[in-house]
Amino acid sequence: MHRVYLKPGKEESLKRFHPWVFSGAISHIEGTPEEGDLVEIYTSKEEFIAKGHYQIGSIAVRILSFHEEEVIDDAFWQRKLRIAYEMRQHIGLTDRPDHSTYRLVHGEGDNLPGLVIDIYGHTAVMQAHSVGMHCCRKQISDALIQVMNGTIQNVYYKSETTLPFKADLGAENVFLAGGSQENIALEYGLKFHIDWAKGQKTGFFVDQRENRALLERYAHNRDVLNMFCYTGGFSVYALRGGARTVHSVDSSAKAVELTNQNVRLNFPEDTRHTAYAEDAFKFLDQMSDGQYDLIILDPPAFAKHRDALRNALQGYRKINVKALEKIRPGGILFTFSCSQAVNKDQFRTAVFSAAAMTGRSVRILHQLTQPADHPVNIYHPEGEYLKGLVLYVE
Ligand code: SAH
Repeated sequence: MHRVYLKPGKEESLKRFHPWVFSGAISHIEGTPEEGDLVEIYTSKEEFIAKGHYQIGSIAVRILSFHEEEVIDDAFWQRKLRIAYEMRQHIGLTDRPDHSTYRLVHGEGDNLPGLVIDIYGHTAVMQAHSVGMHCCRKQISDALIQVMNGTIQNVYYKSETTLPFKADLGAENVFLAGGSQENIALEYGLKFHIDWAKGQKTGFFVDQRENRALLERYAHNRDVLNMFCYTGGFSVYALRGGARTVHSVDSSAKAVELTNQNVRLNFPEDTRHTAYAEDAFKFLDQMSDGQYDLIILDPPAFAKHRDALRNALQGYRKINVKALEKIRPGGILFTFSCSQAVNKDQFRTAVFSAAAMTGRSVRILHQLTQPADHPVNIYHPEGEYLKGLVLYVE
């Protein structure tokens, strides 16, 4: 196997089980690994420290194992997936009659950097974020079907947009197993159409599940604005929670259509809901003071990279000012950031300055994050990406 040798002292983070090797930490490579190949990592003192998938870029190796004797074969994938599945069983997300969707594999959080698998009923949607995981896709798909004891018959591979463009892998979105068109998933008793072929991410924002459930508790008799609604997840929960009216807004007409579809699926005759295809900033500018007393702001990642951080923080401040200015007294704001480049404190500071600009009295009721099926590897705190605040505005 190819060997990657680290510069002196650069093994420290690996000794603490951090799952990446940055290209700057490498002294030299023995052999000529291609992108996606397995490599072994050695310290400058020629001691084995880990093995993983090699890739060209700032993260040069994503670690699969810290054990020299561990072989990356079919049994390895089965073992890893079984561990991930058992965790979801233990936290009560599997085998429920009212619930059929959860994240089975969350990259580094499940010690499988570069791999994401979401479950929607009998279909698993798999995304590779590294060339190594792309190369292993068939093995992983086979292992998945084995491990899931017949509950998964279809594996849809959706990596067209998640793999490094430069690697030029020509990855297509295809079924690696089965081929079902049945695409309605149940989340805590609510039905959602999952468009895994054309939708964002794996078709649904599984990561907002617990936050949607919390919103339901606050929705009774409220006038709700769900900004950046996408599939309408928050809207459907608000309707079940007894909201008086629910308005959903997204700049994408396709998202508005998905939201309407999901509302109809759950509440066919309900007249409380309206969806608008409109830009968020424009809508927030034009809405009247006090029109809503429950507002959700769940924008796309404003900062995809570190260098976009300043603009992103300004963006968060701007939309939060608009919502905080106009929310009815006694109103509740659910505000989120899913940018990995923005940390919890930076987000909180942006929302804090927004509140200060409006001069209103604002209290934090909840501090939210990603749910348990999106675990954070304790050795990889960067994996904590979803941040939310629930604010009570006097
Ligand atoms: N809250 C959603 C996920 C939001 S994803 C859920 O729970 O599923 C972000 C959404 O913001 C996308 O659907 C995207 O179309 C929309 N969006 C992006 N820029 C926008 C803008 N300027 N105005 C309104 N919507 C926007």
